[in-house]
Amino acid sequence: MARIVQKFGGTSVADVEHIRRAAERVKAEVECGNQVAVVVSAMAGVTNQLVDWVSAASPTYDPREYDVVVSTGEQVNCGLMALVLQEMGIPARSWLGWQIPLATTDAHGRARVHEVDIAGIAQQWSDGEVPVIAGFQGIGPDGRVTTLGRGGSDISAVALAATLGAERCDIFTDVDGVYTADPRIVAKARKLDKITYEEMLEMASQGARILQTRSVELAMKNGVRVHVRSSFEDLPGTLVVDEEEIVEQQVVSGIAYSRDEAKITLVQVPDRPGVAAAIFGPLADAGVNVDMIVQSTASDGKTTDITFTVAKSDFERCVELLEEARETLDFKALVPDSGIVKVSVIGVGMRSHAGVAQAMFRTLSEKGINIQAISTSEIKVSVLIAEEYAELALRALHTVYGLDAE
Ligand code: ADP
Ligand code: ASP
Ligand code: MG
Repeated sequence: MARIVQKFGGTSVADVEHIRRAAERVKAEVECGNQVAVVVSAMAGVTNQLVDWVSAASPTYDPREYDVVVSTGEQVNCGLMALVLQEMGIPARSWLGWQIPLATTDAHGRARVHEVDIAGIAQQWSDGEVPVIAGFQGIGPDGRVTTLGRGGSDISAVALAATLGAERCDIFTDVDGVYTADPRIVAKARKLDKITYEEMLEMASQGARILQTRSVELAMKNGVRVHVRSSFEDLPGTLVVDEEEIVEQQVVSGIAYSRDEAKITLVQVPDRPGVAAAIFGPLADAGVNVDMIVQSTASDGKTTDITFTVAKSDFERCVELLEEARETLDFKALVPDSGIVKVSVIGVGMRSHAGVAQAMFRTLSEKGINIQAISTSEIKVSVLIAEEYAELALRALHTVYGLDAE
């Protein structure tokens, strides 16, 4: 008898008909004699609608009430899934975050999981029942509902799998695994049988939304075997595993892109010690995360241009903060640009192979694409380019690194 967590994403539980199909997957595991915990997302599109309503009610909303509203999509679906399972003759009950309880920090809207009490779930298994858990939500130290950040049902699933000591955490979604690039953009993308935690973490954090970034972090830390698979077809998907489990490692395993960032250039900032601290300190204090940074010194040796990127959601606030500090920072101009995309090539093989970055730069130059900023890590190279070239760049790089499907 194995313990398995099965998580169904928004498109997999988009209406009652889909929930019924998902429930068949639960039934199949139960009939094999396994102990199954089900985690559900809201129906596709519902969370966006809830977020819109919150903004319409209060543009500068109270995050605690935001959580009360946006967590309801998952409440509906865990009730519906439990009902559908009961109709199939499988005893089941729903669990909301606070009922488990799945305890989180108090960072409403992006809370972190602190502790999961599995006593109720274990009891249900002993009674031969299937627990159905509302993803994305928990309870904060203030006793109020919290949510884990967009895409957060993946985190709920992995946190449960880790605490339950589950053999597998199945993530059912609308594609049949993790591909070398987003298959909706790159038609020649190939499904990977396995991907390392580290690569998956980079893919997710660089924009591949197939798994929520923090869920991968949590899986890596706790050694949870994550299996990304199709909810529509019964096919083997992609296993996220330790590096040792991958026999033949490609130099580049995947390419990701993100449209979620925007660029700001401060022109002619005085070039003297402390200038970067003066710019980025107040941004950090305001909770604005800065990603790529490029600094270039002018030929007069007295001023410098500083270019950096922030999340689009922080963009306006960031521009405002800098404009307010214009006199102290003493820059000549502020050039905002939200028409950019970040493209990243990822692979643990980069540690032992040179030339990956060079191949990227050459390919983009051959296509006439200008690189506006570069950043690297041990297993990743990212570049910033104009957004109109995103698809061209992705496809060209996919071919150059030998990733195209036959
Ligand atoms: P769910 O609602 O099931 O959580 P998501 O929309 O969060 O599903 O994630 C699935 C989507 O991730 C796919 O539809 C696909 O377009 C996108 N995606 C981005 N990059 C990749 C990739 N490398 N491999 C597979 N899917 C990817
Ligand atoms: N429903 C939430 C969202 O859309 C959580 C999730 O689907 O994982 O972000
Ligand atoms: Mg998702």
